[in-house]
Amino acid sequence: MTPYDALIVGAGFSGLTLAERLCTGRGWRCLVVEKRDHIGGNAADRFDAHGVLVHSYGPHYFRTNSARIRDYLSQFTAWHPVDYTILSFAAGRHWPFPVNLNTFEAYLGRSSTTAEMESWLESHRLPIENPSNSEEVILSQVGREFYELFFRGYTRKQWRREPRDLDASVCGRIPLRTVRDNRYFNDTFQALPKDGYTRLFENMVRACGDRLEIRLRTAYRDVIPHTRFRRLVFTGPVDEFFDHRFGPLPYRSLRFEPESFTPEDLNRRPTPRDQSTFPVPLHHFQPAVQVNYPGDEPFTRIVEVKHATGQVCENTTIVREYPADFAPGSEPYYPIPAPDTAALYRRYEELAGHVATHPRDILPESCGCEGISFIGRLATYRYYNMDQVVGMALKEFEKLASVP
Ligand SMILES: Cc1cc2nc3c(=O)[nH]c(=O)nc-3n(C[C@H](O)[C@H](O)[C@H](O)COP(=O)(O)OP(=O)(O)OC[C@H]3O[C@@H](n4cnc5c(N)ncnc54)[C@H](O)[C@@H]3O)c2cc1C
Repeated sequence: MTPYDALIVGAGFSGLTLAERLCTGRGWRCLVVEKRDHIGGNAADRFDAHGVLVHSYGPHYFRTNSARIRDYLSQFTAWHPVDYTILSFAAGRHWPFPVNLNTFEAYLGRSSTTAEMESWLESHRLPIENPSNSEEVILSQVGREFYELFFRGYTRKQWRREPRDLDASVCGRIPLRTVRDNRYFNDTFQALPKDGYTRLFENMVRACGDRLEIRLRTAYRDVIPHTRFRRLVFTGPVDEFFDHRFGPLPYRSLRFEPESFTPEDLNRRPTPRDQSTFPVPLHHFQPAVQVNYPGDEPFTRIVEVKHATGQVCENTTIVREYPADFAPGSEPYYPIPAPDTAALYRRYEELAGHVATHPRDILPESCGCEGISFIGRLATYRYYNMDQVVGMALKEFEKLASVP
């Protein structure tokens, strides 16, 4: 049996960050197993057949308020600064989104002021003191009209649940502004890896040298019987790790439908009606990186990531995103943040807490495993952004590094 200091399951942001830290920070010898045929997890990107850099699993807008996380990742990439701007297509036209003074003026059909918007919101908000779900959080922020126009349909399509059956955090993440700020996020650092995420991950792997071995197209269960390792780091779905013994955790999945356009294809398209307000740049399909569709369309958004990557390229590719039920064989993209799912997760969390220090209760003794870490979005069944899982991996490293 080949001895490793750590067996790491999953080559996404959480698995590779911890692998890099353990290999270069502690000199550990690590084996990363990844069931897909590439590294990078859901944040992976690639050049498609038309030469356009696309995010393979939906748009990944990097942003953070943490200088530590930014500085850590900056060892492996330069950055392309981006102000992510998003539009919503509702009632037959585009709107700046999230709601801000520009959206409000479009709604009124005339110019307005911050003061007028604030007093309008004041009189339209529902007085809900401690919003406990996503419907209440939006009604208490913007009132029913904007809730119906922008939020309800989108959220129901995305989650196949009423907003009132989802945690307040789902819609509570979206900012509301009474000034002219069309940016989607508030974070102090908003940028994409200059040469793409996959290059960033390759640089992390390169930094580890021969202390890191990666096996793609490999499910961890296949290596366990033949491998010795002191530590197991699991970043896959926690319910799968325990053979779904309390029942499967619910996830939402997605279907991505790409479509590419040459400059000739784009020229043949009719000019959009609101082209003067929301101009489509040359060699692009739509006016912004992301357009949300809260209406009856079967997709939730169309993403043209070229707007954000800044790639100079005559062709362009858009991706329509269709929410889908999670079924065996599909990808568990989103843990569902709701009280019933949290209760089920807590049972797995408790078990994970136990085996973390009693690995022989779940792994064969022949592995020699002394402890298990559960990190990342799937292993903790929580909606985390990329910077948050990097932060989680850095914290786990400190914990492991402090053990003699
Ligand atoms: C559609 C979508 C859009 C997103 N947009 C953003 C965004 O704009 N900004 C942002 O900050 N975050 C975004 N995220 C979140 C981001 O993807 C995650 O925070 C991040 O990728 C999580 O990294 P991870 O390593 O925890 O998990 P993952 O990236 O999911 O990596 C886990 C890896 O483990 C592998 N694995 C699972 N089971 C096994 C097994 N049994 N054996 C071997 N390997 C296994 C998987 O194949 C996967 O590659 C988005 C997520 C999705 C789904």
